[in-house]
Amino acid sequence: MNKELLIGGKSCASYGSNHLLPARTAEGAPDQYSAYEGASAPPFELMENGMKNTGDKSGQANQLALQEHEEFSPCQTELNTVYVSEQDIKEALLQYVSSKCFYRTAPAKHMKVQNLIPLNTYRYHLETFTEHRETHRASELYKGGFVDSCAVAPPPALWEIEVDPPPLFTDCEMHIPVPHTYSVEHCPNCKGRGRTECTSCNGTGKKTCSACNGSGTTDQADFNICSFCGGSGTVCCFMCGGNGWLKCYRCSGSGILLFHTELTITWKNNRTEHVVDKNSGFPVYRLQEVTGKGIFTDEHSLVYPIVNFPESSINEGSRACIEQHKMQFALESRILRQKQTVELVPVSKVEYEWKGKLHSFYVFGNEKKVYAKDYPGECCCTII
Ligand SMILES: [Zn+2]
Ligand SMILES: [Zn+2]
Ligand SMILES: [Zn+2]
Repeated sequence: MNKELLIGGKSCASYGSNHLLPARTAEGAPDQYSAYEGASAPPFELMENGMKNTGDKSGQANQLALQEHEEFSPCQTELNTVYVSEQDIKEALLQYVSSKCFYRTAPAKHMKVQNLIPLNTYRYHLETFTEHRETHRASELYKGGFVDSCAVAPPPALWEIEVDPPPLFTDCEMHIPVPHTYSVEHCPNCKGRGRTECTSCNGTGKKTCSACNGSGTTDQADFNICSFCGGSGTVCCFMCGGNGWLKCYRCSGSGILLFHTELTITWKNNRTEHVVDKNSGFPVYRLQEVTGKGIFTDEHSLVYPIVNFPESSINEGSRACIEQHKMQFALESRILRQKQTVELVPVSKVEYEWKGKLHSFYVFGNEKKVYAKDYPGECCCTII
């Protein structure tokens, strides 16, 4: 029953079962790739070389796959199967209608199912687990003591720093001070002076008296001397206490800071989906709400494009997604792991009769969700 599924021209796994099947790796590839476990971008070059090296064999394998495809297609058989019973359908619709405030349940209870049309489709997922590293200079107050500078030992290169990565395909971020990158330097905010010019008085220590507006008198006629400024027209700056300077907030007045290089590591699981759209009237974006039946899974340091899936759109989707991830991630990140899966997502179109008219709705996913655009029991009235 099971047939070999070719990945990049190599026999990798089986499909045609409702069960999730573990993938075997491409012959010759695992040993090459094992050295790159948990490391190194961009190993796609290796993949391309690997494919070139096995070019002739791949060609033969592709030919074989093609022949097999022509004579056998278990997935196509599954594709034309209705996965829900009439009872399931009625229950799903009734549950859907009951969840809507202004839907009458009568059509769902008494409809006559006329036709069940399987519109099952395939959904392809590519997950690329990447690690990205970048550094920036960070500073803190220096309180004296040992400085782990580059004089102690040369700092490690960006990718030489060993860390425990999170579980595969899990987003995570980590900040690590890089050893041997510490140095004591002048504070850039005050240029080592420990203080900065008061912005309130521009360093003069004085401000125009607000009571006399700088004139020194309170009455134009009698020339009474302003009691706030004693006739000078200026008062002492409240911000700096009159000295024109403020203690530098960054170095707390010391004029120096302890700098080091901070490494930020970001692990991210990047997912791209490809769904075969049958243009049947069912909006495929709704499939995001449901799960399907896993029929193929393949996980490696790097995965090869699927080449002989019965539905050619899955082959094209696989190739396009892998290429897109390569372009998107291989240059700036390391690809640690990739996983591709194909699911069979059940979708059934239900045609039914209600009061002499034909209507339809869709039941989709393992969860048996309902999409009913023209349900006849929808009330137009609102709350009276
Ligand atoms: Zn005054
Ligand atoms: Zn001031
Ligand atoms: Zn400072």
